Amino acid sequence: MASRRASEELIAEGRVSVDGQIVRRFGARVDPEKSEIRVDDMRVATAPDLLYYALNKPRGVVSTMSDPEKRPTLADYAGQTDERLFHVGRLDTETEGLILLTNDGELANRLTHPRYKVVKTYIATVQGPVTREVVKRVREGVELEDGPVEVDSFRVVDDADPRALVEIRLHEGRKHIVRRLMEAVGHPVVDLARTQVGPIGINNLKIGTMRALTSKEISELY
Ligand code: URA
Repeated sequence: MASRRASEELIAEGRVSVDGQIVRRFGARVDPEKSEIRVDDMRVATAPDLLYYALNKPRGVVSTMSDPEKRPTLADYAGQTDERLFHVGRLDTETEGLILLTNDGELANRLTHPRYKVVKTYIATVQGPVTREVVKRVREGVELEDGPVEVDSFRVVDDADPRALVEIRLHEGRKHIVRRLMEAVGHPVVDLARTQVGPIGINNLKIGTMRALTSKEISELY
Protein backbone atom coordinates (compact mmCIF):
# COMPACT_ATOMS: atom_id res chain seq x y z
CA MET A 1 0.00 0.00 0.00
CA ALA A 2 1.23 3.52 -0.75
CA SER A 3 1.70 5.76 2.28
CA ARG A 4 -0.56 8.79 2.58
CA ARG A 5 2.23 11.07 1.30
CA ALA A 6 2.97 8.80 -1.69
CA SER A 7 -0.75 8.66 -2.45
CA GLU A 8 -0.97 12.45 -2.34
CA GLU A 9 1.94 12.69 -4.76
CA LEU A 10 0.23 10.28 -7.15
CA ILE A 11 -2.96 12.33 -6.89
CA ALA A 12 -1.07 15.61 -7.43
CA GLU A 13 0.47 14.10 -10.55
CA GLY A 14 -3.01 13.28 -11.86
CA ARG A 15 -2.25 9.57 -11.95
CA VAL A 16 -5.12 8.33 -9.78
CA SER A 17 -8.63 7.73 -11.03
CA VAL A 18 -11.79 6.56 -9.32
CA ASP A 19 -14.40 5.02 -11.61
CA GLY A 20 -12.67 6.53 -14.60
CA GLN A 21 -12.47 10.08 -13.21
CA ILE A 22 -9.07 11.57 -12.34
CA VAL A 23 -9.03 12.46 -8.63
CA ARG A 24 -7.94 16.02 -7.80
CA ARG A 25 -8.84 16.30 -4.13
CA PHE A 26 -6.74 14.89 -1.29
CA GLY A 27 -8.60 13.07 1.44
CA ALA A 28 -11.57 12.29 -0.81
CA ARG A 29 -13.27 9.20 0.61
CA VAL A 30 -14.25 6.40 -1.72
CA ASP A 31 -16.03 3.20 -0.98
CA PRO A 32 -13.50 0.56 -2.11
CA GLU A 33 -16.24 -2.08 -2.41
CA LYS A 34 -18.15 -0.01 -4.95
CA SER A 35 -15.45 1.99 -6.72
CA GLU A 36 -12.65 1.04 -9.06
CA ILE A 37 -9.39 2.75 -8.17
CA ARG A 38 -6.62 2.90 -10.76
CA VAL A 39 -3.08 4.32 -10.83
CA ASP A 40 -1.71 4.82 -14.34
CA ASP A 41 -4.63 2.76 -15.60
CA MET A 42 -3.69 -0.19 -13.42
CA ARG A 43 -6.28 -1.41 -10.96
CA VAL A 44 -4.86 -1.22 -7.43
CA ALA A 45 -5.63 -3.02 -4.24
CA THR A 46 -7.26 -0.75 -1.70
CA ALA A 47 -5.88 0.24 1.66
CA PRO A 48 -6.52 -2.10 4.55
CA ASP A 49 -9.55 -0.99 6.46
CA LEU A 50 -9.29 2.14 8.46
CA LEU A 51 -11.61 2.01 11.42
CA TYR A 52 -13.35 4.93 13.09
CA TYR A 53 -15.62 4.63 16.10
CA ALA A 54 -17.48 6.87 18.50
CA LEU A 55 -17.61 5.59 22.08
CA ASN A 56 -19.79 6.99 24.85
CA LYS A 57 -17.35 6.56 27.74
CA PRO A 58 -18.94 5.92 31.12
CA ARG A 59 -17.72 7.62 34.30
CA GLY A 60 -15.03 5.67 36.14
CA VAL A 61 -13.27 4.53 32.96
CA VAL A 62 -9.69 5.71 32.36
CA SER A 63 -8.87 7.16 28.93
CA THR A 64 -6.22 4.58 28.03
CA MET A 65 -6.30 1.23 26.27
CA SER A 66 -4.60 -0.61 29.18
CA ASP A 67 -4.07 0.15 32.84
CA PRO A 68 -1.45 -1.37 35.15
CA GLU A 69 -3.81 -0.73 38.07
CA LYS A 70 -6.47 -2.83 36.32
CA ARG A 71 -9.09 -0.08 36.33
CA PRO A 72 -11.71 -0.22 33.55
CA THR A 73 -10.26 1.17 30.30
CA LEU A 74 -11.55 2.15 26.86
CA ALA A 75 -10.42 -1.27 25.60
CA ASP A 76 -13.12 -2.87 27.76
CA TYR A 77 -15.69 -1.04 25.62
CA ALA A 78 -13.99 -1.29 22.23
CA GLY A 79 -15.38 -4.76 21.57
CA GLN A 80 -13.62 -7.46 19.63
CA THR A 81 -11.30 -5.95 17.06
CA ASP A 82 -7.95 -7.31 16.01
CA GLU A 83 -6.81 -3.81 15.18
CA ARG A 84 -4.85 -1.61 17.52
CA LEU A 85 -7.05 1.40 18.15
CA PHE A 86 -5.90 4.82 19.31
CA HIS A 87 -8.12 7.08 21.38
CA VAL A 88 -8.36 10.64 20.10
CA GLY A 89 -7.55 12.75 23.16
CA ARG A 90 -8.66 12.02 26.69
CA LEU A 91 -11.48 12.59 29.10
CA ASP A 92 -11.05 12.69 32.87
CA THR A 93 -11.92 9.40 34.52
CA GLU A 94 -14.97 11.07 36.06
CA THR A 95 -16.11 12.66 32.76
CA GLU A 96 -18.46 10.69 30.54
CA GLY A 97 -19.17 11.12 26.87
CA LEU A 98 -17.82 11.09 23.39
CA ILE A 99 -14.36 9.80 22.64
CA LEU A 100 -13.25 8.78 19.15
CA LEU A 101 -11.27 5.59 18.56
CA THR A 102 -9.41 4.81 15.35
CA ASN A 103 -6.50 2.85 13.88
CA ASP A 104 -5.72 5.89 11.71
CA GLY A 105 -2.84 7.28 13.79
CA GLU A 106 -2.31 10.23 11.47
CA LEU A 107 -5.88 11.41 11.89
CA ALA A 108 -5.75 10.85 15.66
CA ASN A 109 -2.67 13.09 15.90
CA ARG A 110 -4.20 15.75 13.73
CA LEU A 111 -7.46 15.91 15.67
CA THR A 112 -5.61 16.40 18.96
CA HIS A 113 -3.09 18.94 17.66
CA PRO A 114 -3.89 22.47 18.93
CA ARG A 115 -3.15 23.85 15.44
CA TYR A 116 -6.33 22.28 14.05
CA LYS A 117 -8.57 23.85 16.71
CA VAL A 118 -11.12 21.07 16.77
CA VAL A 119 -14.11 22.34 18.76
CA LYS A 120 -15.38 20.10 21.55
CA THR A 121 -18.77 20.57 23.23
CA TYR A 122 -19.35 19.83 26.91
CA ILE A 123 -22.47 19.84 29.05
CA ALA A 124 -21.69 20.52 32.69
CA THR A 125 -23.86 20.39 35.77
CA VAL A 126 -22.42 23.08 38.04
CA GLN A 127 -23.22 24.62 41.36
CA GLY A 128 -25.66 27.33 40.39
CA PRO A 129 -27.37 29.59 39.70
CA VAL A 130 -25.17 31.09 36.96
CA THR A 131 -25.70 34.83 36.59
CA ARG A 132 -25.45 36.93 33.42
CA GLU A 133 -22.24 38.47 34.77
CA VAL A 134 -20.66 35.03 34.98
CA VAL A 135 -21.75 34.22 31.43
CA LYS A 136 -20.15 37.48 30.26
CA ARG A 137 -16.93 36.76 32.16
CA VAL A 138 -16.59 33.26 30.69
CA ARG A 139 -17.27 34.56 27.18
CA GLU A 140 -14.69 37.30 27.57
CA GLY A 141 -12.00 34.78 28.59
CA VAL A 142 -11.03 33.68 32.09
CA GLU A 143 -7.38 33.78 33.15
CA LEU A 144 -6.15 30.50 34.68
CA GLU A 145 -2.70 29.89 36.17
CA ASP A 146 -1.50 28.42 32.84
CA GLY A 147 -3.06 31.11 30.62
CA PRO A 148 -6.43 32.41 29.44
CA VAL A 149 -9.27 30.14 28.30
CA GLU A 150 -10.85 31.20 25.04
CA VAL A 151 -14.29 29.63 24.69
CA ASP A 152 -16.04 29.28 21.33
CA SER A 153 -19.37 29.60 23.07
CA PHE A 154 -20.88 29.42 26.53
CA ARG A 155 -24.54 29.34 27.48
CA VAL A 156 -26.80 28.42 30.34
CA VAL A 157 -29.11 25.58 29.32
CA ASP A 158 -31.02 25.43 32.60
CA ASP A 159 -30.42 28.01 35.28
CA ALA A 160 -31.55 25.99 38.27
CA ASP A 161 -30.60 26.55 41.90
CA PRO A 162 -28.64 24.85 43.44
CA ARG A 163 -27.53 23.12 40.22
CA ALA A 164 -27.37 24.72 36.79
CA LEU A 165 -26.71 23.14 33.43
CA VAL A 166 -24.28 24.91 31.08
CA GLU A 167 -22.96 24.20 27.60
CA ILE A 168 -19.34 25.05 26.83
CA ARG A 169 -17.70 24.80 23.42
CA LEU A 170 -13.96 25.19 23.22
CA HIS A 171 -11.11 24.13 20.98
CA GLU A 172 -8.36 23.36 23.40
CA GLY A 173 -7.42 20.32 25.37
CA ARG A 174 -5.62 21.45 28.51
CA LYS A 175 -6.02 19.07 31.42
CA HIS A 176 -9.23 19.53 33.47
CA ILE A 177 -9.89 22.69 31.47
CA VAL A 178 -13.69 22.79 31.94
CA ARG A 179 -13.50 21.92 35.63
CA ARG A 180 -10.80 24.55 36.25
CA LEU A 181 -12.65 27.19 34.24
CA MET A 182 -15.92 26.72 36.10
CA GLU A 183 -14.16 26.54 39.47
CA ALA A 184 -12.43 29.84 38.65
CA VAL A 185 -15.79 31.59 38.17
CA GLY A 186 -17.24 30.15 41.36
CA HIS A 187 -19.32 27.31 39.88
CA PRO A 188 -17.58 24.00 40.52
CA VAL A 189 -18.52 21.14 38.19
CA VAL A 190 -20.66 18.42 39.68
CA ASP A 191 -21.02 16.35 36.48
CA LEU A 192 -19.34 16.65 33.10
CA ALA A 193 -20.13 15.07 29.73
CA ARG A 194 -18.72 15.63 26.25
CA THR A 195 -21.37 15.62 23.56
CA GLN A 196 -19.51 16.60 20.39
CA VAL A 197 -16.00 16.46 18.87
CA GLY A 198 -15.69 18.53 15.69
CA PRO A 199 -18.46 17.34 13.36
CA ILE A 200 -19.21 14.17 15.34
CA GLY A 201 -22.11 14.29 17.79
CA ILE A 202 -22.87 11.72 20.46
CA ASN A 203 -26.58 11.92 19.60
CA ASN A 204 -28.35 9.06 21.31
CA LEU A 205 -25.43 6.64 21.62
CA LYS A 206 -26.00 4.78 24.89
CA ILE A 207 -23.41 5.12 27.64
CA GLY A 208 -20.87 2.32 27.41
CA THR A 209 -21.59 1.57 23.76
CA MET A 210 -19.64 2.21 20.57
CA ARG A 211 -20.72 2.75 16.97
CA ALA A 212 -18.83 2.94 13.70
CA LEU A 213 -18.75 6.41 12.15
CA THR A 214 -20.57 6.75 8.84
CA SER A 215 -18.53 7.46 5.70
CA LYS A 216 -20.06 10.98 5.68
CA GLU A 217 -18.83 11.60 9.23
CA ILE A 218 -15.37 10.25 8.36
CA SER A 219 -15.05 12.54 5.37
CA GLU A 220 -16.08 15.50 7.56
CA LEU A 221 -13.24 14.70 9.98
CA TYR A 222 -10.62 15.19 7.25
N1 URA B 1 -12.31 19.36 30.67
C1 URA B 1 -12.29 18.74 31.86
O1 URA B 1 -12.20 19.39 32.90
N2 URA B 1 -12.36 17.40 31.89
C2 URA B 1 -12.49 16.64 30.79
O2 URA B 1 -12.57 15.41 30.88
C3 URA B 1 -12.52 17.30 29.54
C4 URA B 1 -12.44 18.67 29.51
